[in-house]
Amino acid sequence: MLRESLQYLYEQAPCGYIFTLPDGTIARVNQTFLEWTGYERRELVSNTRFPDLLTRPSRMFYENQYAPLLRMQGFVKGVTLDLLRKDQSSLPVLLNSVQRTDAAGRPLLVASTIFDATDRRRYERELLLERRKAEELAAIVAFSSDAILSASPKGVVQSVNSGGERLFGSPAARIIGVKLRELLAAEGGTAEWDRIEQELREGRPVLAELAAVRPNGGRVEVSAALTPLVGLLGEVGRISAVVRDISERREAERLQQEFLAMVSHEIRHPLTAIKGYAQLMQSRGTYSERAVDTIVEQARRMERLIDDLMVASQLEAQRLDLRLVPTELVEEVRTAVQQMPFEAHPVRLDAPSEPVPVLADPQRLGQVFANLLSNAAKYSPAGSEIAVRITVEGARARVAVTDRGVGIPAEALPHLFTRFYRVEDTAGQATGLGLGLYLSRRLAEAHGGGIDVESEPGAGSTFTVALPLSP
Ligand code: ADP
Repeated sequence: MLRESLQYLYEQAPCGYIFTLPDGTIARVNQTFLEWTGYERRELVSNTRFPDLLTRPSRMFYENQYAPLLRMQGFVKGVTLDLLRKDQSSLPVLLNSVQRTDAAGRPLLVASTIFDATDRRRYERELLLERRKAEELAAIVAFSSDAILSASPKGVVQSVNSGGERLFGSPAARIIGVKLRELLAAEGGTAEWDRIEQELREGRPVLAELAAVRPNGGRVEVSAALTPLVGLLGEVGRISAVVRDISERREAERLQQEFLAMVSHEIRHPLTAIKGYAQLMQSRGTYSERAVDTIVEQARRMERLIDDLMVASQLEAQRLDLRLVPTELVEEVRTAVQQMPFEAHPVRLDAPSEPVPVLADPQRLGQVFANLLSNAAKYSPAGSEIAVRITVEGARARVAVTDRGVGIPAEALPHLFTRFYRVEDTAGQATGLGLGLYLSRRLAEAHGGGIDVESEPGAGSTFTVALPLSP
């Protein structure tokens, strides 16, 4: 009875038993081992060497390391190897072996127990994957350009990434231990922070526009996502804060706001004049040449403004739409001069008698001259002359517009063709969007030419457009 029980235990044990001769030939195996590997007992016993039941890498390891170690110290414990089943699939196992010797110390038999290591393998692999995932996340946090902080439930910073060091202008050691409410100023002050903390305590995330406070007192506009990490019992364990610098976006919004206000102003001005003169004629019931002239002139001014805005938006979208056709330059310049309201300025046009052919989009080229002429008028005193000179030099035509106005300080010259730039000293003298010169240069360049400026403060300026002659 006992013998049978022991036999049963041996055969059906939750582990494999295997006995091998010193040369590795299998002498005995239990049922469990047979079930795991799919072999019949007779296929293995006396017919197969144990190493031949291993995958290639495992066999090499067994022959070169495991077996010598076993001979040397008499036992080996807890080594993982891959068994090869009869159907050639592999089974990870944990192998423990003991060597039996005779009285003279010669090896007789090796007894091994084998445990299925599939679960353990899977567990190890999952652990490894989890660790890799955690490392990846840590790398994302470390290299994020956003500031990422974690804080205690009371809002005291416990860790901060390098993005946070950059944003707050302090090393991590100076940020850790400080309260979030001191690092991030709220426009609504203490009351707003009390409200934010209340929300967080109740487990709700908060999205707020705040200001990051730097040690020198400087402030950076930020958007902050504050998230309470709620535990199983509903308690707030930690607060995570992702803080992003939005100062550039805010600045762009402010510029856009300012720009819209200026555009409205620029449109309103001619519109008021048009309406005023039209109403005057309406109420008097008479035709006035002066009124009609003004209406046409102001309508042209609005048209120029709208053309400028359109080209600006095309440039912004990098889709400037030019329709180049053979064009006579002198004629274009003459038209541009005629369309300007120059009552206040005598204009002298100096042009060669023969035609100057260029390849151009007449409307866009007209815009360049209109801008230069209108600037010459805007930034020079009434009564002073404006000279327009067309010349041909080699393969280029040049149109120079010279005024005797306020001129431009040398330090402003490099910025003159930048979008929205206006010279501070003289900007108050006339309204404008600071777009004209920027557009004019880009348009001249799109025609294969360019614009240059020479100026002497107090004496006047010359803007010269160069264009390639059409062959
Ligand atoms: P704005 O709409 O302000 O006239 P522009 O781009 O045409 O914009 O010109 C940019 C700035 O360059 C102007 O604000 C002005 O300060 C300066 N400027 C342009 N043309 C002249 C000029 N002929 N004389 C003096 N200053 C000029």
